[in-house]
Amino acid sequence: MQNTQLSAILNEAKAQLEKAVSRSETDEVRVKLLGKKGKLTEILRSMGSMSPDDRKKFGKSANEARAEIEGLLARKFEEVKAAEHALRFSAETVDVTEPGADIRIGVRHPITLTIDEISRIFMSMGFSVTEGPEVETVFNNFDALNAAPNHPSRELTDTFYITGDTLLRTQTSPVQIRTLMRRQPPIKVIAPGRCFRVDTADATHSPMFHQVEGLLVDEDVTMSDLKGALDSFAKRMFGADVRTRFRPHFFPFTEPSAEMDMSCFKCGGKGCRVCKGGGWIEILGCGMVHPNVLKVGGVDTERYTGFAFGMGVERIAMLRHGVDDIRLFYENDMRFIEQFK
Ligand SMILES: [Zn+2]
Repeated sequence: MQNTQLSAILNEAKAQLEKAVSRSETDEVRVKLLGKKGKLTEILRSMGSMSPDDRKKFGKSANEARAEIEGLLARKFEEVKAAEHALRFSAETVDVTEPGADIRIGVRHPITLTIDEISRIFMSMGFSVTEGPEVETVFNNFDALNAAPNHPSRELTDTFYITGDTLLRTQTSPVQIRTLMRRQPPIKVIAPGRCFRVDTADATHSPMFHQVEGLLVDEDVTMSDLKGALDSFAKRMFGADVRTRFRPHFFPFTEPSAEMDMSCFKCGGKGCRVCKGGGWIEILGCGMVHPNVLKVGGVDTERYTGFAFGMGVERIAMLRHGVDDIRLFYENDMRFIEQFK
């Protein structure tokens, strides 16, 4: 009688598990038969009223039935779990042959790279990097730099004026004035930045361009300090073999003033396309800071002297990379810009 009940439960287990297609359905079968209020549990509870002999026999059969049902459940669980996984995997299939989404990683602009390289070299010589605004006062851009009132670069045809006494700086030199007014010697700074001049863009001119300014003011600074620092810069920027020479020149804010040439890094001075056959390449302007400029900053000109220099970043980038048209830097053509990364 009881064994019939047990085999009925066993059959029910088989039939229901046959139909179950998920882990939750399988678990429902488990609860219905083996749970606290499950059918098998109820039958086991009724064993209390049996004779000890019957109870022993029935208990054995019931445990066997329970073990069998548990075995069936475990197998079914594995089965539906595998099926569920297979279903999910097929739904989430990734086509590994599909081309990936293109992530565009930018590159630094060749002008930025050149400024970084120039800065790195001067920083290794103890210079720090400073900056000034692109909109300047006429005083800082011209007067304080000892430019005569009739200096040609002051003309409206050469300079972008904002108002009567402000303009877009035509050079990075006003940063010299700002530094001298803010600090006392010793001063050892470079100042990279953007400059503006009224120019029609062509292969070598751009109304917007970059300079790196340099200023060193201290006791006992002489022209030989200037030559040593700038010669060292040229060698580290263009190669240890380059030689430099200084030609007298005129700038209002330095006295004496000079232009520095370096021997052609391409041909070594024999003459080629880069140096236009001359063997030398003009690289920067420099000189000993004019006492009038130092006085603007309240520097004691009996005690201190200094040197200053300025170089065109585009020109250096063009020389180093063999770029023959300055306009290429500003066309935002990634095919050009990505060549320098
Ligand atoms: Zn050459």
